[in-house]
Amino acid sequence: MEQGNKTKSLSGNSKQFSPLSRKGLVIAIDGPAASGKSTTARLLAKRLGYLYLDTGTMYRALTWKALRDKVDIKNPKALSELARSTRISLKPKSDLSIRVYLDDKDVTSFIRSPKVNKYVSLVSTVKELREVMVVQQREIARCRSLVAEGRDTGTVVFPRADVKIFLQASFEERAKRRWKENKERGLSLATEEVEAELANRDRIDSQRKTSPLKRAKGAIVIDNTHLDILQTVERMWEIVEKKMT
Ligand code: C5P
Repeated sequence: MEQGNKTKSLSGNSKQFSPLSRKGLVIAIDGPAASGKSTTARLLAKRLGYLYLDTGTMYRALTWKALRDKVDIKNPKALSELARSTRISLKPKSDLSIRVYLDDKDVTSFIRSPKVNKYVSLVSTVKELREVMVVQQREIARCRSLVAEGRDTGTVVFPRADVKIFLQASFEERAKRRWKENKERGLSLATEEVEAELANRDRIDSQRKTSPLKRAKGAIVIDNTHLDILQTVERMWEIVEKKMT
């Protein structure tokens, strides 16, 4: 992955700083599905000129491959083997989006399908598969300033991160956001269906044995139930700025 090298304000704050003239930070943002992590972490990374690492895309890409190759989703050994034999790379684009390549195939448009949504949390419970992902995530991050987001970035992947944020919002608000997101992608799902899927992801992600979703030690909680994207980024920015001064 390439690292951006320009500092740019995306939320209208005139206060800017160049991360290149300072020691860079590792920023870990965790939180449940539809809490707004991806969008806000991406904007924060852009504003800081840091690398953005969306760890969820890696679990999604593996899930997509498992489904495509009809790997038994209930067989941890088969899934671990799949992880070991798969190459995942993430390439940032100038419009802030990230293209996800799996064994050199661009799978970006497939990994947010309802089917992947349905199985990704189950696939992500497999300990050995997670170990392979964590090694790759640390490798991507080596010697870089970055904003990483996921479920275990502050607890497991980067336990010594300089800044840890736990982003959360009420279940109702998250369901509303997920419904809207689906609609914008042309998927008209019933509210109940969206809520059931979200509740299922929440349950599996926070109750699994390996690396469950939880607030990391030292993480600052941002509840963005009543904040929009830019307000959330602003809160993150304030936390980061404090750390840098
Ligand atoms: O963040 P996103 O919703 O794309 O993540 C999809 C799923 O991948 C999560 O629900 C979770 O099951 C899994 N995941 C994980 N650990 C991470 C990131 C994502 O288990 N660090």
